[in-house]
Amino acid sequence: MKGRTKSKFLRIKCACGNEQNIFAAASTAVNCLVCNTPLTSPRGGVAQLTEKATLVKTLE
Ligand SMILES: [Zn+2]
Repeated sequence: MKGRTKSKFLRIKCACGNEQNIFAAASTAVNCLVCNTPLTSPRGGVAQLTEKATLVKTLE
């Protein structure tokens, strides 16, 4: 890994009310830290939000 990291994070809210930051280019699925619901599924190197996740804001 050298010099190719995008420093972009998303703040997302789970259906359970938990908010957490995720890496926008996450290549693995991210689960809610509270209820373990899948919040994103990686697709083409970009984190796609699942229907349980709501985008709160984008953090540059
Ligand atoms: Zn949750």
